[in-house]
Amino acid sequence: MQYDLLLSGGEVMDPGAGLRGVMDVAIAGGKIAAVAPSLPSKQALRTISVKGRLVMPGLVDMHAHVMVNGHDMGGQTDHYCRGSGVTTLCDAGSTGSSNFSALRGMLDHHVRTRVRAFVNLSAIGITGTSRGGELSHFPYADPEGCARTITENPDLAIGVKLRFGPNLVWEYSAEPVKLARKTADMAGGVPMMMHITDSPVPLPDLIAHMKPGDIVTHCYHGRNHGIMGQEKQFVLKEVVEAQRAGIIFDCAHGRNHFNFRMIEKALDQGFLPDTISTDLTTTSASTGPVWDLPTTMTKLLHFGMPLEDIVRRATANPAKLMGYEGTVGTLKPGANADISVFELRDGHHELRDSDGNSVTAKRRLLAQLTVKDGRVWYERPAE
Ligand SMILES: [Zn+2]
Repeated sequence: MQYDLLLSGGEVMDPGAGLRGVMDVAIAGGKIAAVAPSLPSKQALRTISVKGRLVMPGLVDMHAHVMVNGHDMGGQTDHYCRGSGVTTLCDAGSTGSSNFSALRGMLDHHVRTRVRAFVNLSAIGITGTSRGGELSHFPYADPEGCARTITENPDLAIGVKLRFGPNLVWEYSAEPVKLARKTADMAGGVPMMMHITDSPVPLPDLIAHMKPGDIVTHCYHGRNHGIMGQEKQFVLKEVVEAQRAGIIFDCAHGRNHFNFRMIEKALDQGFLPDTISTDLTTTSASTGPVWDLPTTMTKLLHFGMPLEDIVRRATANPAKLMGYEGTVGTLKPGANADISVFELRDGHHELRDSDGNSVTAKRRLLAQLTVKDGRVWYERPAE
């Protein structure tokens, strides 16, 4: 068989597919053709040695923003993704029924990163102003329009987004959650994703209205009513039970949602996020503390989470939730040839959380090469 590209001699790490070890990865026709210890380079048009590097599926960011506040990463989305090994992302409800078509137009004409999106329960999407968030004014809630937008865009829209927090919802009760869940049912039983940072209502009262497959995002925020309640000592039993029952906990870093003390405690207690994501926006990518997905992964690695657990939660797990099981977030032959190659670089790397705390990590994931649909999309310049 003729290969378009061969990545030779790297340490393959694809826990979702059960692949681990020094292997070559062959690509043909935009798909993964073979993964095996020794593939013939004379059959490849181009061979790149990735010896000493980690070879993973292209990363999948479960929570980022292409169009928050009207534009944000917009046409620059690829610029932020390709240099960090991200080939697929999920826009977490930047737009609602009234402006989803703008997101669609942006993606169709200006973005090569593979994207799916949650549709905001609010017609206006996330357009933050000091006068209140997108659902602080009840008439902006548009369950019918949201459900219709999802059913009319089945290739792009995958669920309902609700931001629950102070000045974000019209009332501090479970009503907004119930309405989001009802909207998701109207759209054919799709998942809902709920932002929970600094909730005015205890988390168990909200997740009681969610279903398995629904997503709680910002699970490691350090503000009010997080996964450890107001005591902030132990993960609440309702939260542990919800995760066991199939509710997904996503870590979405962002500028306000990632607290090292919470992470350290939660990991010590065995509470791992189901998906690892950035909540990336132009600001958090260009001035920190998020920077990119590998940096968020590096932070979890620093706090002792095993690398294979991290990779699974930034590849196969989010790919499955986005409806891409077996085709994205995996190196299995036949899957789309989205591949990220990383160096695990030793050194002293200063990392910050969202609340001004910092740590020094001894290892850091650094993207070296990104392949998207079989084509080299990024190569780190020689240093
Ligand atoms: Zn977000």
